[in-house]
Amino acid sequence: MIAEILSVGTELLLGQILNTDAQYLSQQLSALGINVYHQTTVGDNPVRLKNAFEEALTRSDIVIATGGLGPTMDDLTKETICEYLGLPLSVHEESLRHLEHYFATLGREMTPNNVKQVMFPKNAIILKNTKGTAPGLIIEWKDKIIIILPGPPYELIPMFENEVRPYLEKKSDVLLFSRVLRIFGIGESKLEETIQDLIAAQSNPTIAPYAGFGEVTIRLTAKCSKDEDPMKYIQPIEQEIRKRLRHHIYGINNDRLETVVADLLIRNNLKISTAESCTGGLIASKLIDVSGISRSFIEGFITYSNES
Ligand code: ATP
Repeated sequence: MIAEILSVGTELLLGQILNTDAQYLSQQLSALGINVYHQTTVGDNPVRLKNAFEEALTRSDIVIATGGLGPTMDDLTKETICEYLGLPLSVHEESLRHLEHYFATLGREMTPNNVKQVMFPKNAIILKNTKGTAPGLIIEWKDKIIIILPGPPYELIPMFENEVRPYLEKKSDVLLFSRVLRIFGIGESKLEETIQDLIAAQSNPTIAPYAGFGEVTIRLTAKCSKDEDPMKYIQPIEQEIRKRLRHHIYGINNDRLETVVADLLIRNNLKISTAESCTGGLIASKLIDVSGISRSFIEGFITYSNES
């Protein structure tokens, strides 16, 4: 399946806010095995929004629009899209009651323009907004899926996780699974040289080295059907990489160097002290971030001047 993200908001075009919704959605869609071929950003202008939506609909199976679900006149994403699709809007009673309850709990008066946020086309799947006033919606239209989500990330992310991801998981039969190997003590070029033949012959999983800050990583991404175990594809390649890089691989996925080091110290009942100059206590600072480290970390010195 091919998806397109349609970000709506003049603030985005003016560079006043960063499009983190598009970044988040792209990451999530890729993890679901859904290809994103286009991201489009358009301002709060109904004509340009309609044109952008029309184009997105011709080239994608799924269009996810974000932003412009608020109560004001310039929030027009849902209205413009539904008008284009020929779907009239009417008040969704359950959402209206939820909205009234929301305002009553806050002790605030609901203004008439808020009603606009609970108007939906018939048969739309309504997505509850647990953090704000604007519900999202999913429209199944001909063979297309249109998903409209609120702009604020703290509203969009829970809505995606609670409702959109489970919905899309049911629609997609492909699973993309990534495992990251974290590497220390070997530079990017040496690493590439060591696994060059594996990279050249890669198919499933794909092998992607990446140079980060103070470490390099290799992301292995397997593509399989939902009822298969992706580790079946990853394991043989990971084993081969481990054979070549040995102790340079210190962790996987979200492991951090300090967490791995602290864990080794604690498990082996070892004590550690630090003496730091130019790092100004950074090593100590990283270590004491790990819970339980007081059993191993005794003290740290910052000896900065030549005399000390
Ligand atoms: P509201 O119901 O709060 O009016 P909305 O769905 O109408 O939300 P917008 O009015 O377009 O959304 O944007 C509200 C705020 O959400 C923006 O000021 C910005 O802080 C954030 N936001 C909107 N779009 C994005 C985006 N693509 N990436 C990150 N943040 C965004």
